[in-house]
Amino acid sequence: MKKQLARSKKLWKIGDPAYNTHYFDFNLDGELIVKEGNNTYTISYLAEKLGTPLEIYFPFIVEERVEDLMDLAGYLIKKHQYSGEFHYHYPMKVNQNKEVVMALIGEGANVETSSYNELWLVKKMLEQGTFNMNIRILCNGPKTEKYMILIDELQHRGLKITPIIEGPNELKLLQYSRYDVGLRIDMPVKASSHWNKEIDRFGFTAEEVMELKPFKHLKILHYHVGSQIEVEDDLLVPVRYALEMYHKLWQKNPSLDTLNIGGGLPIPYERTKTVLLERLLEKLLTLLKTESEKYNMPHPNLICEWGRYMVAPSQITVYQVMDNKLVTHKKAAGKKWLILDGSFMNDLPDVWGVNQKFSIVPTSNKNDKNLTSVWLAGASCDSDDIYVGNNGKLMLPDPDLVEDGKPYYLAVLDTGAYQDPLASHHCMLSSPAKIIAQNGHIMVLRRRETPDDVGKYFGW
Ligand SMILES: *Cc1c(COP(=O)(O)O)cnc(C)c1O
Repeated sequence: MKKQLARSKKLWKIGDPAYNTHYFDFNLDGELIVKEGNNTYTISYLAEKLGTPLEIYFPFIVEERVEDLMDLAGYLIKKHQYSGEFHYHYPMKVNQNKEVVMALIGEGANVETSSYNELWLVKKMLEQGTFNMNIRILCNGPKTEKYMILIDELQHRGLKITPIIEGPNELKLLQYSRYDVGLRIDMPVKASSHWNKEIDRFGFTAEEVMELKPFKHLKILHYHVGSQIEVEDDLLVPVRYALEMYHKLWQKNPSLDTLNIGGGLPIPYERTKTVLLERLLEKLLTLLKTESEKYNMPHPNLICEWGRYMVAPSQITVYQVMDNKLVTHKKAAGKKWLILDGSFMNDLPDVWGVNQKFSIVPTSNKNDKNLTSVWLAGASCDSDDIYVGNNGKLMLPDPDLVEDGKPYYLAVLDTGAYQDPLASHHCMLSSPAKIIAQNGHIMVLRRRETPDDVGKYFGW
């Protein structure tokens, strides 16, 4: 029994902090569980009770991750006698659900908005008394007139809010603002990431920056290279480049005191290599320290906007296998299609959009000895609504060997980042129901959409 559990944990890479799966385990019945202190949640039980497809969000995971980052940063700053401050800003675009944002700011995260609508949520929280005046806000994204007016309004109210200038028009509007502003640079250093484009439309090049007249109150130099940067050096090399520009800007703008290195810390979705936060942060701080001392300038405050890293592990999506059939193409002979009751295209759109991989774990270990090669098919009629694993390879329990009458559930892990905001309703399928599991209680955040609910999006 014990041996089988240990084998299953190893097989599905459960219980391993390197993969952010230390919140998960299998219980003595071989069922996948999530442990929050003394509370445990059995995934198959929740799926049976509430139906599938089902999204389960665990706020404690987000809270622990923010806390760990802050503790680590505090410890390393002391250890290296770093004289700048560390501030974590949560980029709201990664997952704007209220329960996610609340969990983050409750633990001391600051925020970064990418649109007028996101900043409007900040105003709403402020008016509801759930937003502390000490929470710092950075504003990226297109500075529409409404956005600018709201930034101005919140600055007047005394909020610590800093717009980041991303283009020429914004420069005109903000260069001489009497409030703090930030400037985004176009980072020419390339990283191995889908999002690191050769041609980037954001920010100012080095040549452009050198020609800028002094600002009235430049506070932050910002860059964002891309998301899911899987090579440690690719996260460090841009720092050196940015610091060189920071130094030149600082000579003309002595109010500049903060470097914002954006997002990009990866999630080991594929359960292979991973960037270790502790090692990265230590390297970041020592690099900033030695380089700024070479330039004879104060250690800059450091801002990180790691979004995916913070929230992806806090949510899972559970599907039921509805049917299966053999893949007929001879290139895939012997494989089985498992047909799910939810859609990749709709619920996990990055599978379709950027060929994202996820770790997929059966909610019971009963059939771990009967794995077979499968491809997964989503519930929409679209031939793109499939998931074929890494290089077309995915091993899961053989559906024909799952005990008759027992539902066969699959949990997709790390679905808390970017999937909800991009979700859609192809074939008019309902979104998964969404629940929150906290302090031993289950609350429904989004009930299963009825045809009427979905019809409303299309004017019915
Ligand atoms: C999207 C974005 C982030 C978050 O990126 P992650 O890869 O999720 O860490 C941070 N900063 C800016 C400016 C962004 O556009």
